[in-house]
Amino acid sequence: MRTSNWILTGVVLGTLFIGSAGAAAQQAADSQPLPQPPVADATPTAQSSQSAAAAAQPTAPATQPTAQAAQPAPAPQPTADPAPATPAPTTMDQVVSLVVERERGLIKVLSNRTPVVETYLQNLTNDAQLGPVPSEDHYFLGRMDMGETVDRKDYLKNEESKSMQTRLLGGFQKLYKVQYQPTGFSWMVYADRTDFDREHYSFSYVRREFLGEVRCLVFDVAPKKDAGRGRFKGRIWVEDQGFNIVRLNGTYYPPLRNSYFFHMDSWRLNLIPGYWVPAYIYSEEGDFAAGAKNKIAFKAQTRIWGYDLKKGGKDDELTQIRVDSVKDDSPTAQDASPLQAERVWQQQAEDNVVERLTSAGLLAPEGDVDHILQTVVNNLEVTNNIDLPRPVRTRVLLTAPLETFSVGNTIVISRGLIDVLPDEASLAAVLAHELAHIVLGHNLGSQYAFNDRMLFSDDATYQNLGFKHIPEEEQAADKKALDLLKNSPYAQKLDNVGLFLKALQARAGQLGALLTTHLGNPLAEGGQVTRLSALSTQGPALDNNKLDQIAALPLGGRVKINPWDDKAEIVKTAPVAITSARDKMPFEVTPFFPRLTRYGTTAPAAPATTASNSNPGN
Ligand SMILES: [Zn+2]
Repeated sequence: MRTSNWILTGVVLGTLFIGSAGAAAQQAADSQPLPQPPVADATPTAQSSQSAAAAAQPTAPATQPTAQAAQPAPAPQPTADPAPATPAPTTMDQVVSLVVERERGLIKVLSNRTPVVETYLQNLTNDAQLGPVPSEDHYFLGRMDMGETVDRKDYLKNEESKSMQTRLLGGFQKLYKVQYQPTGFSWMVYADRTDFDREHYSFSYVRREFLGEVRCLVFDVAPKKDAGRGRFKGRIWVEDQGFNIVRLNGTYYPPLRNSYFFHMDSWRLNLIPGYWVPAYIYSEEGDFAAGAKNKIAFKAQTRIWGYDLKKGGKDDELTQIRVDSVKDDSPTAQDASPLQAERVWQQQAEDNVVERLTSAGLLAPEGDVDHILQTVVNNLEVTNNIDLPRPVRTRVLLTAPLETFSVGNTIVISRGLIDVLPDEASLAAVLAHELAHIVLGHNLGSQYAFNDRMLFSDDATYQNLGFKHIPEEEQAADKKALDLLKNSPYAQKLDNVGLFLKALQARAGQLGALLTTHLGNPLAEGGQVTRLSALSTQGPALDNNKLDQIAALPLGGRVKINPWDDKAEIVKTAPVAITSARDKMPFEVTPFFPRLTRYGTTAPAAPATTASNSNPGN
């Protein structure tokens, strides 16, 4: 079976570009047992869903600040909705009441969750040819307590987190205490955590609109006079079956004294029955058009995942028991030989690390994307006659910074790196480097076979785990990787790898945060790309004017994470034609436009949760 797999390379290529792999994942998702809906909410019970849909046809004029009663109009029979049924509203006033109630319900349901929050921010400067391009970047990663405090624990305990306000904003800092901190981004998950109601806000119906497959009612929301500072001002999209907010777009107003709020576009996904949970937030500030004098200009992506993370739950115990109870039935069962013992030890360390990173919300569970990665690794192995005592596994690190590392026989590659790689050959090249470490026996991490080393709080992961090789091993791995690639189906496509490395080099000086690794060796150091440098001169020169030359992709185009269960899948989007050099946006962040679907229809991935999960904490 292995000997014929290299033929698959074309198939994998197709998968990466057209994204046909999603179907299998979806099937798997559909076959999952449905979880019980969370029970914390006190939504009143059902009435006819027909009249609910009817009421969703508001006739109030768009300019009316407070909506009046709308005549129920005939509406098509809605499809079954797994959301808790709501009393059928007959007036826009009632719709608003439901929206307010559902928002309170969401806040309550999520109040014991501590999801992972990642914000990646690029400051912008104008380039004559490329338009706004990153001038520097910043990265935050932490766990957000969705309880009353909306408190946050940072995974990165470096200077960046502490003193970024002062370092970052220069003159601007003197004018405002800009809310440029991680908490500023975490805040934007709700319109108003405490006072989202009609006493503090006026709601004005605008129109109906589809977001993806979901029909929404659109409202403009403004704080009432004397409602206090820092109130939400903007627009909300409310799905018309359960009346949950699915998107918020606006800012907070008026600013708190000496502070400043970002504009944000905040999206939610229907990942559990009846609730739409915050998943993506795009922020952008300042004028970065040509000639703008604005000093502060940035765009930022915030992603939230790991809602279902828990700490030492019963599920974990069951897994342990199952693994431990596998019986060794080999006829000559006896003590392991020294070499066997060494290998088992390595395996134990590897399993410990994979498990610990997964429970910290940093590693996706095994899934669809791994199959693609494993096929590429297999292509390299088969054509190089590599036969290892244990199979090489691959896993996806959920974070944006571009990094790979390996522990035992598991190769880990970050979501951000998969996103920006332009083609399968480039993916093969970064995987080849890690495969080379494995082949060369550069084993790391055997100390993690001791279980006490796994006992640390999630936010201390980066202080407790690390897989960096010494420079000599890095060079040896690069050399070996080149050999592997030259014998592989990718041998003829190494020009593309060279091009990617050139694109990376062109931005390396500005993207220090994206290139700062947290577990493995960096691809670049001090603004200089070091990984696979022998290939960096190969291939054509980087040329922005060549529209068919795609050296690196923007972030977020390849891998999609299910924020509830952390499963990774390949995004299925049709390629969009590039019409100018500005469309290339290598390594850049862009706004989010997820295609919204209702839970249980064409679910983006399989949620699996119950309300009984203990508080993940950390
Ligand atoms: Zn390495």
